[in-house]
Amino acid sequence: MKPTGILFFPAFDWSLGETHPEREERLLYTQEQLFEEGILDLPNIQQYAPGLAPMAEVLKTQGIFPSPQAQDLDAHLIAAGSALVLGEAWGKGDIRNGFALVRPPGHHAGATVLGNRGFCTLNNEGILVNYLRTHFGVKKIAIVDTDVHHGNGTQDIFYHDPNVLFISLHQDGKTLYPGSGFTHEKGGPNAWGQTINIPLPPGTGDEAFQYVLETWVLPKIQEFNPELVINSAGQDNHFTDPLASMNVSAQGYGKITELLKPDLAVLEGGYSIEGALPYVNLAILLALAGQDYTNVREPDQPRRPHIPLKTLKSYVSELAYEYKQAEPQWNVRNELYLPPGEWIYLPHSIYYDTEGFQEIRHDRVRRCRHCGGTVFIESRRPPEPAKFALVRIPFQACPECAQAGYDLWDTLGGRYQAVLLQDQDRNRIEFWQADQGVTAF
Ligand SMILES: [Zn+2]
Ligand SMILES: [Zn+2]
Repeated sequence: MKPTGILFFPAFDWSLGETHPEREERLLYTQEQLFEEGILDLPNIQQYAPGLAPMAEVLKTQGIFPSPQAQDLDAHLIAAGSALVLGEAWGKGDIRNGFALVRPPGHHAGATVLGNRGFCTLNNEGILVNYLRTHFGVKKIAIVDTDVHHGNGTQDIFYHDPNVLFISLHQDGKTLYPGSGFTHEKGGPNAWGQTINIPLPPGTGDEAFQYVLETWVLPKIQEFNPELVINSAGQDNHFTDPLASMNVSAQGYGKITELLKPDLAVLEGGYSIEGALPYVNLAILLALAGQDYTNVREPDQPRRPHIPLKTLKSYVSELAYEYKQAEPQWNVRNELYLPPGEWIYLPHSIYYDTEGFQEIRHDRVRRCRHCGGTVFIESRRPPEPAKFALVRIPFQACPECAQAGYDLWDTLGGRYQAVLLQDQDRNRIEFWQADQGVTAF
């Protein structure tokens, strides 16, 4: 049998501050634990060395503004690049599955990046998905985000993509950062129903997670029939996590992994550095390698109030009903300068908690029955006057959408400080800046 790939990138020289929860020690105890247990010596575990994500792969997925040089990306490029290393090993058939234990995390970083938010700047899974599509011809991908926080960045990147099923299970946004991830967020006009949010109440534990996976998540994945399942493996659902209020154990995480059978797992959050991370990571790794994880036990006991399964079942059936009932309300705005087609307008406001500013976005997507539709995003950071734009021609774009994308690309220049062209279909990534002209990646 092929091995399970594992890769560590602890980013020892990157942090948001000495006392910050997302800090350098996050992977140290895990490394020690795996070493002590002799896991790295097992014949069915293959360790890989970190890599660097090429800027073309980053910009294919995310618009970095005002320019990639203006953002501190060093550690993030290695975290994303490390996910690509395992992606390549999977694509070549060298591993049966893999777990990238990297930091900084990525799932709060969205389609546009003006800074760091929720500890994230680059979306490791998003970059991984588009890399595998370009280089290995993968077409249908499911991403399941089991971090306790809503995977709002990943949702943002794939919101209009009919070939990516994105499912986020998280603590209800009414009680936790980033305050989004509700059932009515179901995807854009060309990908309606391809985003699924399952906000769970504080106190949700192992058996409840298993219930939601078995009754909702797994049937959806089966129906979608993806070639690849990616797990955004956040570990802050653990009952000792200091940032959230859930009740999942290390064994619960092992069970989640066993049920989900991800091809590739990428570490996201998890801030109980000694009490949870080493045990949760061990359980996940053992489950991926098809080994027994039922002896993995963390030193502490759950102390938070527990939600009985019966209560949770009725809560979840209510959620599923809400999800089914949610109807789209598209706002069509065919402004004069837009190429022919029906353009759906979706405004956004995004708060960057790390640096404390707001990004104002005007998103437009060309409604299309043949492809994911060209996406056009305008972004700015008030009170600064500079405006940025992103034009995305999606994978497997139809000729009309491709033409609409190039029409936009040809005419936008003068109105913005920077414009990014993401022709994902032809793998043509170009960045135009008012003072420097076009750079091709
Ligand atoms: Zn998290
Ligand atoms: Zn189209």
